[in-house]
Amino acid sequence: MGRRAVIVGGGICGLTAAIALRRAGWRVTVRERDEAMMATGTALGIWPAALCALDAIGVGDEVRRVGQRQRAGAFLRPDGSRIATIDVERLHRRTGDHVYLLSRPGLLTILHRAAAEAGATLRAGDPVDDATALSDVDLMVVADGVFSRTRETLFGPTYRARFSGSTAWRGVVEDMPTDTFVEMWGRGVKFGVTPQEGGRTNWFASAAVPEGRFRPGAEVAELRRMFGRWVPPVRNVLDAIDESRVLRHDVYVTPPLPSFVRGTVALLGDAAHAMTPDLGRGACEAIIDAVALASHLRETPAVEQALREYDRQRRPTTQRLARLANLAARMSHLRHALPIRDQLLRASMLAGPPG
Ligand SMILES: Cc1cc2nc3c(=O)[nH]c(=O)nc-3n(C[C@H](O)[C@H](O)[C@H](O)COP(=O)(O)OP(=O)(O)OC[C@H]3O[C@@H](n4cnc5c(N)ncnc54)[C@H](O)[C@@H]3O)c2cc1C
Repeated sequence: MGRRAVIVGGGICGLTAAIALRRAGWRVTVRERDEAMMATGTALGIWPAALCALDAIGVGDEVRRVGQRQRAGAFLRPDGSRIATIDVERLHRRTGDHVYLLSRPGLLTILHRAAAEAGATLRAGDPVDDATALSDVDLMVVADGVFSRTRETLFGPTYRARFSGSTAWRGVVEDMPTDTFVEMWGRGVKFGVTPQEGGRTNWFASAAVPEGRFRPGAEVAELRRMFGRWVPPVRNVLDAIDESRVLRHDVYVTPPLPSFVRGTVALLGDAAHAMTPDLGRGACEAIIDAVALASHLRETPAVEQALREYDRQRRPTTQRLARLANLAARMSHLRHALPIRDQLLRASMLAGPPG
């Protein structure tokens, strides 16, 4: 009989952890609050280090096959002039792999199937309010996202999710294939267009605005007010957006935690380190956390010691990425000194993506 783990949250992180722990010989139950898996969602960029973690649990090739490889990319101004180029070949030379763009439901479908095939027990519609109150398990994996209740129980209200200062719009446009990643940066606002599997185009926009300013039914009008004069591809995408399919979320982050573990409880993914989406790395780091945790548990049989190793490995990296993502958010929301901003963006592209 293997040791027993309960995973709170059946999102990207929780399902990855379920597969990785099953492969390490654990008996695993995933308790997911929602009744059904998310059916709609926009594209996530899956970076080489996350693909490597997905390879370790046997699903990397499926993600590459279903996803869309990023072939080129650029940062542009609203008039189409170039600020910087994303050198995808350089990333390939450095890592031996590419970035693949895949929708959240696409990724969740792959992970869900693999977790079930690996023998994890997947319980939908089964929320956990306080994971620390569960007994009778050898390991508790907390992967319940940025608004994690268990994080608050363990670390107190100081570590409640904080509003980052920006809001994000996202959506998908059908029948508008593109193979290029474009981010256009204006004065304090940005708009991105990326490929997505199935000949779709994924788009996102971001602005620094106060919390809770949603105007259901008037979001496209708001987007047109901000971006209506920008050149294609932004203009074409705006023309094709369907109001009912616009997702808008204020962006929240996890304050930097003093530890990702307490005894036999480990926090992973957004529960441990939700960051602004500006580097496109949150889901990738959640995947890497899950695979790293299982690997430490394989190497170090004493659970508490393995969790301390996990914390030592993952906390500095993810907290550094969260700081960089916050910096990137601030840069993209600058309203003045745009030539300096552009120089900084070019310099960051020359330095390459943070590891
Ligand atoms: C606009 C935007 C764009 C992004 N783009 C990218 C990108 O390109 N690349 C990238 O790598 N990342 C990106 N991210 C980040 C990424 O979405 C998150 O980092 C990732 O989803 C975190 O996964 P998770 O499993 O930790 O948390 P979540 O995805 O939040 O999953 C948590 C799960 O726990 C469940 N849950 C919550 N509470 C309970 C409870 N009490 N009991 C049981 N279950 C519970 C939820 O229902 C959910 O299924 C983006 C984020 C945003 C906002």
